[in-house]
Amino acid sequence: MFRVESCPVCAGKSLRVLKTHAFSFPGDKVQEHLLDYRYFALWTLFERVLQDRSDAVFDLTLCEDCGFIYSNPRFTDEDMATKYTTFNELGTPELGAKHHPPFNLEGRAKRGYDLVNKYYPFKGEGRPKVLDFGGGAGYNLAPFTRDWECGLVDYGRWDFPEGVTKLGNDHRDLSPDQAFQVILLLHTLEHVPEPVALLKTLADHLEDDGAMYIEVPLGAFGEWKFMNEPLMHLNFFSEESVCTAAREAGLHPAHVETRYQWVTHAKLWCINLVAYKNPDVGPALGRRPLTTREQMGKLHYYLPYAANPRVVKKVLRKVTGC
Ligand SMILES: [Zn+2]
Repeated sequence: MFRVESCPVCAGKSLRVLKTHAFSFPGDKVQEHLLDYRYFALWTLFERVLQDRSDAVFDLTLCEDCGFIYSNPRFTDEDMATKYTTFNELGTPELGAKHHPPFNLEGRAKRGYDLVNKYYPFKGEGRPKVLDFGGGAGYNLAPFTRDWECGLVDYGRWDFPEGVTKLGNDHRDLSPDQAFQVILLLHTLEHVPEPVALLKTLADHLEDDGAMYIEVPLGAFGEWKFMNEPLMHLNFFSEESVCTAAREAGLHPAHVETRYQWVTHAKLWCINLVAYKNPDVGPALGRRPLTTREQMGKLHYYLPYAANPRVVKKVLRKVTGC
């Protein structure tokens, strides 16, 4: 791990620590907690990534320039590879999928497919290529398999839908000349230590008239206040900061929206962003992205959660400490 002294998105220096979280080694019984993501994430952090059982402290920092909220210190690429290889060794992705299978996958996949087709109605010859980067078991590609050539990059070991080909574990497995008309980056950007660097790398793999569809949780609203562990989500975006990240990577946002929408096991507030590599391909953004401050203050974002007893209990536990 390493500390950063400037914003990982815009390199700004006007930084403010919003909160500090301390985490402790959870114990040696990881084999008994393979379905408890907080336990096995903390075990992996201390035992494999840090190789040190001393408490670890993370600052949650706001960049006043672009509104990006991020944890600090940051993980290296090697730390991330250690995380995923440890999860594979423990078998936690497969166990989680078996005991808590995601559902309503078709609805989620169709949402992405419809949005891509709205902003990228492919009219060229042959089958266009789509890459789902960090695409897990590949279910978001299912609607694309009929007309698109579908590739996927992910550390996971899954039985992919027919027509989906795994191209590697991470971006280093793509050959420099591999290019796609569309790249999907769904609930992945919040996990990566250097979001702009990843977006730049993926933009290099877009055709000149290509488009990227990015989906992230609205982490800037409140998620950063309630971190259970620091290994999974490192970035807490707003419309403002995710659009800035895309622009810093040379992409041109065409559509941004914040919606309470289905992910894998539940609905949550998410930001959907479509961006082009070339601004002449389609429309420019129709409105100003909401700032982090604006999205932090939108109390109606609490409403759907207020109806969920599990969330209410969790918040009360955090507030009261018992
Ligand atoms: Zn910034």
